[in-house]
Amino acid sequence: MWIVFSGAGISQESGIPTFEERPDLREVLTLDVWEQDPASVWQIVWDMFRSVEMAKPNPAHCAISEAQWYVVTQNIDGLHQRAGTRSGDILELHGDLRYAHCVQCGDESQLAFMHQRAIPKCSCGSIYKPNVVLYQEPVTRWRYVANLLNQACGVLVVGTSLTVNPASALPGMAERRGIPVHVINQAASREVPEFIAWQTGISKTAAENSHRKRPS
Ligand SMILES: [Zn+2]
Repeated sequence: MWIVFSGAGISQESGIPTFEERPDLREVLTLDVWEQDPASVWQIVWDMFRSVEMAKPNPAHCAISEAQWYVVTQNIDGLHQRAGTRSGDILELHGDLRYAHCVQCGDESQLAFMHQRAIPKCSCGSIYKPNVVLYQEPVTRWRYVANLLNQACGVLVVGTSLTVNPASALPGMAERRGIPVHVINQAASREVPEFIAWQTGISKTAAENSHRKRPS
């Protein structure tokens, strides 16, 4: 199987701002802020949730879903699933913004069905935390990536330059297993200097390349 490794660039055309475009996200979505001032975290999360709700998957998400590739994503916007990628075919490294869980009893709830309160409260009396990995929190789901690569015949990186840990380890992990890595991105990455630049928008480029590289 081929694995798609996607980042913020794939959702840019859907209107989801990248973290580079929103420096406030990096300042507020941290464990420290969560512990001291959860309302500030929720304020940003509700804001992001509203833009995610309005966004639609673009042809890149759809091409990946049609090719039935396994997706490993750094994104929390849920657009791969809305394009048709099944929940069993995706590993969301940083969680899913559309869900939250109670920090006390673990009850999981969809933001779409919650009151958009400053800090959403659970019926047990405790508070909900968004199902996203905050800065300063470990990316625990990365541990599944090595196992996925063992079953993969190639990796298509879309919309990320793989500069952030642990994603920067991906090309080396693929190389050790002898599987090719192709990158579709706006810019080259230090780890994979060869890349397919998108001239006409990522969705068209990804759609074209998904057909070319579809496993036989
Ligand atoms: Zn609870």
